[in-house]
Amino acid sequence: MKHLTQQQVGDLSSKLTERTRALAARVREELAESDVQHYRDLAGAVTDTADEALAHALVDVDTEIIDRHVIELRDIAGAEERIRRQTYGCCADCGDAIVYERLAAYPTAKRCLGCQQRHEREHPRTGRPGI
Ligand SMILES: [Zn+2]
Repeated sequence: MKHLTQQQVGDLSSKLTERTRALAARVREELAESDVQHYRDLAGAVTDTADEALAHALVDVDTEIIDRHVIELRDIAGAEERIRRQTYGCCADCGDAIVYERLAAYPTAKRCLGCQQRHEREHPRTGRPGI
């Protein structure tokens, strides 16, 4: 991630943190509204859980609406891990730098635009729209 300044990485990192908080709050709300007692117990548990651990805590929850949030939380956790390993902003497929503008729009982007478009053609149902 040599092409990113420390300031840029800092900005992207706070975006990821904010998004994690927002998603974690949504998941807690949805869990709290759930009629299933198991999920209510889990909601109580995750309230005391560090946000970063939330995705792991929710591995066994398989309701569709929460699933989408959990997938995004895992993507964010993955991006934060790449920041720690200094591999953030490098395309997972070709290794090229992902331009800052793309990361600013999609901080969890794993691929450069060209590789992402190819990936979505090859795996049309797995990519999120617009990324
Ligand atoms: Zn690439």
